[in-house]
Amino acid sequence: MSEPRLFSVKMRASRGSEHVSGAERIVAPSAAPETVSALVRRALGHSKGDPDFISLKVAAIGDVLRIKALPVATETASTPGEGLAIAERLLREAGVERASEVVAMLAAAGPMRGAMLVDADTLERLEPDKARGVRATCMDAAGAQGRLPPSSKSHYAEAIVLASKVAAAPGIVAELCISDDPDYVIGYVASRSTGYRRITCMKEMGDAHGGRIFVCRGIAGDPSNTIRFLEETPVLVEAIPMPDGTARGNRLDGIKREIDAIRTSGLWRETRVLEMRPEGCAMAGGREVAVLSSNDYLGLAKDPRVKKAAADAAQSFGAGTGGARLTTGTQPLHVKLEERLAAFFGSEAAVSYATGYMANVGVISALAGRGDVILSDELNHASIIDGCRLSGADVVVYRHRDMDDLAGKLSRCGGYRRRLVVSDGVFSMAGDIAPLPKMLDLCSQYDAFSFVDDAHAVGVLGATGRGTAEHFGCPRADLTVGTLSKALGAEGGFVCTSRMLADYLVNRSRAYIFSTSPAPAAVGAAIESLRILETEPDRVRQLRTKTAYFAAELRKRGIAAETQSAIVPVEIGDESKAVAVAAKLMERGFLIPAIRYPTVARGKARLRVAISSVHSCATLSAAAEAISAILPGMKSR
Ligand code: PMP
Repeated sequence: MSEPRLFSVKMRASRGSEHVSGAERIVAPSAAPETVSALVRRALGHSKGDPDFISLKVAAIGDVLRIKALPVATETASTPGEGLAIAERLLREAGVERASEVVAMLAAAGPMRGAMLVDADTLERLEPDKARGVRATCMDAAGAQGRLPPSSKSHYAEAIVLASKVAAAPGIVAELCISDDPDYVIGYVASRSTGYRRITCMKEMGDAHGGRIFVCRGIAGDPSNTIRFLEETPVLVEAIPMPDGTARGNRLDGIKREIDAIRTSGLWRETRVLEMRPEGCAMAGGREVAVLSSNDYLGLAKDPRVKKAAADAAQSFGAGTGGARLTTGTQPLHVKLEERLAAFFGSEAAVSYATGYMANVGVISALAGRGDVILSDELNHASIIDGCRLSGADVVVYRHRDMDDLAGKLSRCGGYRRRLVVSDGVFSMAGDIAPLPKMLDLCSQYDAFSFVDDAHAVGVLGATGRGTAEHFGCPRADLTVGTLSKALGAEGGFVCTSRMLADYLVNRSRAYIFSTSPAPAAVGAAIESLRILETEPDRVRQLRTKTAYFAAELRKRGIAAETQSAIVPVEIGDESKAVAVAAKLMERGFLIPAIRYPTVARGKARLRVAISSVHSCATLSAAAEAISAILPGMKSR
C-alpha cells in the first residue's frame, strides 16, 4: 500500500534578528491544521520570551526515508569538566582521533543556529556558509503523523530524531551537541557506532552557550550530497527508545543529578526553623534575630486578640471542617468571613479559598480556558503563572508595568472568546505597584476582564489598607484576589468580585470545589484581623512611616532604596553573592534571606526586606547599618 501524501509543517519564531524557537513536524494532511496551531502556541509560550514574527511553512513532501532511531544510553557527569571529558572519549570511540580539538572548537564557537560540518582528520570546516552552518531539517518521529504533535516539552524525542538522521547521513562519523538552552545542561555525542549517548552535564546551569558539530570523513572534495541529505531528504525516525536502561534501572539517578546541578549553581534551598518572638523577632539556630522578611506587615499574626479568635473558633467549631464548601464544609464562619471581606473591600461578593495561591490558581483557571487569552505581567507571582498554565488558555506576557505594551498586545487579541488581564497589585519581589487606572481603561476599551492580586497591597496600600484601588482612588478590578496570610496575619485566600462572577466561581472553580474548606481557626482569626484593620487604620499609617524611615536610613548610607509598599528590595545581582550577604546579615542578627532564581530572574538576586509596623526604628536603622557595612564589594554589575 502506498503511503498517503505527507506535509512538512515548519515554524520559526524570532524577535528582531534573534531566533526564539523553531520546530518541524511531518504530518498527514488531516493533522496539519491542529499542528499549525500547536506550533504557534509553542512559539508564543517560549521561555526565551515573546516573538514578534512567526513564520509557518506548510509544504507537501516527496518520498520519505524511514530509518531506525539510534539506541540511547546515558553517561553521568556531575560537572561540565567531567561531561566534556566523556564527550571526548565517545568521539574517539566513534573514530574521531582529534576529539579534544573538536570539543574545543565547539567551546570556542560563537552563537550559531546551524551546525559546523568538520572534517575528522583535517578539522577543516566544509559548510559553504560558515555563519549559517548546516541545518538538519525535514524529519520527524514516525508514528506521529495522524496524531496531535508532541508537546513543546518533547526535547528528548526531537533530539533523538535529529541525531538519528544526522548519523544516517553519508560521510558523517559523529555528532557533538550542547544545547543553547540555559536551563538544559544535558548534551550528547551520537554516531552509528556509539549510538545516542546523553551526557548529563555539559555546562553550568544558566549558560546559554551551545552548538553542534557534525564530524565527517571522505567528503571534503564535495560535501554537497551530505548537506542535501541533511537539509532536504524527508526522514521519519522509527522506534524512538524511552530514556535508556540506566534511567529505568535507577529512577533516582535523574533526581540526584538535578539536585547536584541546583547545588552547583548556588540555587539550593532549605527550610529554616523560626520560633517567633514579639516585635518582629525570632529565635533561629539558637539565637535571637530581627526578622525583616516576614509578610506579617501589621504584626497581626501575634496580636493577642487574633490568637484568641483563632483559639475560640477551633474550640467552638473544631480543628477541621471535614468537607468541601459545596458538601459539608460551609460553616456560619465562612459565610461571615466572605460577607466581611465583601463589605470591607466594597464589592458585591467574596469567595474564600484555603490559601492565596489556591485563590489565584482557582480563579484564573475557572475564568479562562482553551480559546481564551490571558495577558500577564512578566513579573507576576508564581501562583498567577500556575493559574495561567492550568487554564489551558493562550498566555501573552507583557513587559513589566508597561501599559503601551499591554495595549499593543490587547489590540491583537480580538479573535479570542475571552480576554483576561492579570497583574500583581504590589509586585512581591520588587515592591512596585501596577498602574491600575490605566490597566482598567485598557480592559474596558478591549472588553477584557481585569484581575489584580493584592496579596501585598491589602493592609499596606491606601489610607485604610484597602489595597491598590484605594491607593489610586480608582474603581476595583473585576476580580481582586487577596490573601489572609500576610497583613491579616491568618491563613487563606479570597477573591472580591461581583455577585455573578462569585456564583460562577462557586460552580466552576476547582480549587474551591474540590478542596476542604478553610479551618475554623484560620477563618476566625481572619475575621478578627479584618475588624482590627477596620477599626485601627493607624497601623497602616505606621507601617508606611516605618518603611519610609528604613528606606531613608539606607539612602543615608548610599544604598539606593525606593518603595511605595512595605517591600524594600536591595539589588545584588549574583546568586552566590546574595547568599553570602544574607549569611553575613544573619551573623549580625538580621534575618533577610536572599531571593534568587527561580523567584526572580537569573542574575537579579536581591535582598528582599519586608517591613512590619511592629519593627522599632532602632531595629530598622541597625539593619540599614548592617546592610551598608556588608554590601560594598559584594554587589555585582
Ligand atoms: N500572590 C502573591 C503576590 C504572593 O506573594 C503570595 C505569597 N507569597 C501569594 C499570592 C500566595 O498567597 P498564600 O501565601 O496565601 O498562598
